[in-house]
Amino acid sequence: MAEDASSIPTHTKAWYYSQHGRPADVLKFDPNWPLPQLKDDQVLIKVIAVSLNPIDYMRIHGEFKDTDPDLPIVPGFDVAGIVVKVGGEVRKFKVGDEVYGVINEEGLSNLKILGTLSEYTVAEEKRLAHKPSNLSFIEAASIPLACETALEGFEHAQFSAGQSILVLGGAGGVGSYIIQLAKHVYKASKIAATASTGKLELLREIGVDFPIDYTKYNFEDLPEKYDLVYDAVGQTDRAFKAIKEGGKVVSIVPPAYPPAIFFALRSKGSYLEKLRPYFESGEVKPILDAKTPLPFSQLIEAISYLETSRATGKVVIYPI
Ligand code: NDP
Repeated sequence: MAEDASSIPTHTKAWYYSQHGRPADVLKFDPNWPLPQLKDDQVLIKVIAVSLNPIDYMRIHGEFKDTDPDLPIVPGFDVAGIVVKVGGEVRKFKVGDEVYGVINEEGLSNLKILGTLSEYTVAEEKRLAHKPSNLSFIEAASIPLACETALEGFEHAQFSAGQSILVLGGAGGVGSYIIQLAKHVYKASKIAATASTGKLELLREIGVDFPIDYTKYNFEDLPEKYDLVYDAVGQTDRAFKAIKEGGKVVSIVPPAYPPAIFFALRSKGSYLEKLRPYFESGEVKPILDAKTPLPFSQLIEAISYLETSRATGKVVIYPI
């Protein structure tokens, strides 16, 4: 691979934290963070856009300090960017390719010290996929963690065409993808979802047959029951009351307990490849919060906004 070595950076601009706390108190900007040595299965990415996820602020708060690497840490899981260097064993990508993905293998273990809230980052090629050309970098960045999580839950549930689903938290980053995958990929017979009053129209637009205003109704008291309740809020107790006999509960929010199926995301570029036709056809589309995008300089405002749990769809940082 022909590369101009002089153009490959050794340092990067990055946001980092060296103590746990509120993002506004502990996030700092480093114009000169050293880049790690590229491993054979990794690519170096010029980051173009990054979407935020609740796990970013949860880690900054210290909720996962037992499994996190030692501080200081550059946060960020999702990336969309351009490959600027490839390791010796990389086969799928070349310099100049537009890629996106979740750079960490799992939600809570083996996390990288250098995350994606950085001008450059590194990831193993198997975590990444080629960015669909019809999507902007902002749109692509909004997909990986939320949409791969949504997909993985359907796999755990062994959801099949013709089954019905209730999505708890339908307007959030993950929920908006759960709904779209239920409709277009898994061909659910009926899709219900919860949100507050102002977001019910959005739910209808992305495929919900039966939007439930949680400010007016308790979903578990309604007569309709479902084959699957997919909980993106943390309402496991109540979710059990909304399933049909033999139905399942999948939850991505602790404390979920059996028989609910709880899992933490595993990042796979192959999930994104599987979904590529749905992105290219426009059937599954990124839902971006009205504040999106916010520039790199406004990371603290963006992450503080996500922490309100009121975002609609995804919050994306761009330009970096
Ligand atoms: P978001 O911050 O995007 O969710 C915000 C949305 O949640 C808002 O649109 C809000 O809608 C909705 N919401 C909040 N409270 C309720 C409620 N009581 N009922 C219905 N909707 C509600 O978060 P994500 O979608 O990115 O993540 C959702 C959860 O899943 C988080 O707890 C996250 O940590 C977890 N997660 C877990 C993963 C795993 O691997 N286990 C992976 C990814 C996420 P409104 O304003 O209408 O209330």
